[in-house]
Amino acid sequence: MKRRDLLKGLTVLPLAGGILSGESAVGAELTAIASTAAKRDLFKELGIRTFINARATLTFMTGSLMQDEVIDAINSSSKRYCMLDELQDKVGAKIAELCHAEAATVTSGAFSAIMLGTAGVLSGNDPKKAAMIPHLEGSGMKTEVILQKGHNIGYYQAMKNCGVTMVWVETREELERAINDKTAMMAFMNCNTNSGQIKHKEWLEVAKKNNIPTLIDIAADVPPIENLWKFNDMGFDLVCLSGGKAIRGPQSSGVLMGKKDLIAAARVSASPRGSTIGRGHKVNKEEILGLYVAIDKFIRTGEEEWNFWLKQIAHIENAVKNIKSVKTRVFVPEIANATPNLEISWDPAILPVTGQQIQERLSKGEPGIELNAGKNNISLVTFIMVPGEEKIVAARIKEELSKV
Ligand SMILES: *Cc1c(COP(=O)(O)O)cnc(C)c1O
Repeated sequence: MKRRDLLKGLTVLPLAGGILSGESAVGAELTAIASTAAKRDLFKELGIRTFINARATLTFMTGSLMQDEVIDAINSSSKRYCMLDELQDKVGAKIAELCHAEAATVTSGAFSAIMLGTAGVLSGNDPKKAAMIPHLEGSGMKTEVILQKGHNIGYYQAMKNCGVTMVWVETREELERAINDKTAMMAFMNCNTNSGQIKHKEWLEVAKKNNIPTLIDIAADVPPIENLWKFNDMGFDLVCLSGGKAIRGPQSSGVLMGKKDLIAAARVSASPRGSTIGRGHKVNKEEILGLYVAIDKFIRTGEEEWNFWLKQIAHIENAVKNIKSVKTRVFVPEIANATPNLEISWDPAILPVTGQQIQERLSKGEPGIELNAGKNNISLVTFIMVPGEEKIVAARIKEELSKV
């Protein structure tokens, strides 16, 4: 068999590999080709700039990196088939158990969880109703979702996708007045808790009194680990989580968890069912399993990882703290993306350079490093780096600040 023929045969590699692997020369060659293929550097081949992400889990920067356990789950599940609904049932049951929810389902991101959750609230278990979404008029479905003005973040678009009208309130009195027989749901954006007058318990109290389902978006609110179950325990009917932030599951995964009947209703609008608003929110089996492994691992090792992130931060801090006028500060945001951050600031009279200039120099360096910049400071996180990259980041920041 010539090399060219072998290459052609690569399209049937799983089968050929099964038959030909082992001692034979052909098997050895196939293995060699397969491993060459694995080493193919597509970023280089396509001329795509890569960088160390010390900035944040931002979708436009491809979010976070999956850990080896997650990649292993993806690889090991990629050679077999299963029924998608059975997989969602069983993985959902496991995630629900881990997170103190009655039920859960894997979605294509937190946005998708919010949209599917809303769809389920509107349609209940009726596939005919689900097929009508987002055209609610004359459908018999409710049409309004209440949100606090202070919780106005762009992601409420996920609810609007279902055709609902957003009703904005500020005070408890306005909330009570806004509730009527068209009210489908009361939503809460956790990251904006401090910008709204009404907090979780009061929101839930009013909702329960009026028998209205509640949904909370906690997309970027893990860690702390206990936030995985805190809002289920509190009594929110639907909880929406991103899989691709600090949990470092697949970037296009998320979780919708909560009350059993509402999760079942949400799945009426979800893939594989076809004539629904959620059909495009498909999640493949590998990512469903990858997310399960990521959540399970995060619960088991999150604390250990937190300590490792602090060590990485300390390494960078130590590298720069003796540079003239440099001050460092370690902080954890109170809410949303609550991981250790390092701020490095300096006196511009002594180091005449702006944060933005340092940011640009690091971005254009080799390897490129992306982080946040202020007027006389830069700030960074380490939790989404490949372990070890903190050494490169420390050396590069030291180099650039020392040059000024
Ligand atoms: C990131 C984020 C989302 C969207 O999450 P995806 O998993 O990317 O869909 C929604 N809400 C908030 C508050 C977020 O931070």
